[in-house]
Amino acid sequence: MNFILINWVKYYTKEAMKTLKLITIGSAIVITVVCIKYRPVYKVTISGETIGYIENRELIEKKIEKYIDSTEGNIAFREIAVLPEYEFKLVNRDKNVNNQDVMLAIENLTTTTYKFYAVTSDGEQKAVVSSKEEAESIINEIKTDLNKDVDLKLGIVEVFKENKSEVSNKETATNILKEFKVAKVTEYENKKAEEAKKKAAARAKSFASVATSAPTGNLNGLALAIPVNGTVSSRFGSRGGSRSSIHTGLDICTSSGTGIRPVAAGTVVYSGYKGSYGNLLIIDHGNGVQSYYAHCSALYVAAGQQVGAGTTIAAVGSTGNSTGPHLHLEIRINGNPVNPQNYIY
Ligand SMILES: [Zn+2]
Repeated sequence: MNFILINWVKYYTKEAMKTLKLITIGSAIVITVVCIKYRPVYKVTISGETIGYIENRELIEKKIEKYIDSTEGNIAFREIAVLPEYEFKLVNRDKNVNNQDVMLAIENLTTTTYKFYAVTSDGEQKAVVSSKEEAESIINEIKTDLNKDVDLKLGIVEVFKENKSEVSNKETATNILKEFKVAKVTEYENKKAEEAKKKAAARAKSFASVATSAPTGNLNGLALAIPVNGTVSSRFGSRGGSRSSIHTGLDICTSSGTGIRPVAAGTVVYSGYKGSYGNLLIIDHGNGVQSYYAHCSALYVAAGQQVGAGTTIAAVGSTGNSTGPHLHLEIRINGNPVNPQNYIY
């Protein structure tokens, strides 16, 4: 009985071993065939889109992390909206497997933000450069020789951009700022000139209408002669001393009693005492031109009388509002006093 049993067990063990051997061999064949034809990889997808196949998941994850965290150059930060997903797969050995494809896809899906420096004027960005040092150097250069009264209010601000194309090299940025400086300085100088002009105009206006009224009478052909030799003591348009208003004539200082000749031939239209003028002669020369001779000590001609250029018409004196002997000569064109020195002396 025992013998039979032992033989039976032996028989079946032998059969089992045979089967196991067959399974093992079969499996080995299958695995070998699979390994020859296929290999294990990771399929990398982003938002469901296949971007490539890689062998080493850990390696690619590290590479991506390093890429995203990079701050080289002017990179401020990088962002990738979605991270890749990995799926373990056996793929045909012919399938192209490489890290470059995946990295390229990652780069295309990444937004890089760069940090630059803008040179500002009164908060307004004028030029953008790569480094703070460049911005500082430009400001220093612009400030050199800058008129102290022109404050460009220069400053530096950090700017973040996704595009490198708006960044200038130092030379270009310096030129932009130089042009801006020139424009600002010109603007300042024009403004100053305008103010000076306005001031001058206001000053000229204070000379009253006498200074601004252009001669409208015709002096053509009318040669005006010096009425008396002497020293000019007060010019037309002057102010000051005891004078309360603008001087409407020319004062010629000489000794009392000196003979006065008319500046040109004409007709006496006034001969008499007239307020602050004292003894006054007015001669009409035609064409709207009249001459006044004031403060005279004596008047030798009467109204209505024709006088020649060489006639002695009056004598120098100090009558009326006068502090010493002199001739106050006035030339009027259409009633407006003009500067006698434009025509005589
Ligand atoms: Zn005078």
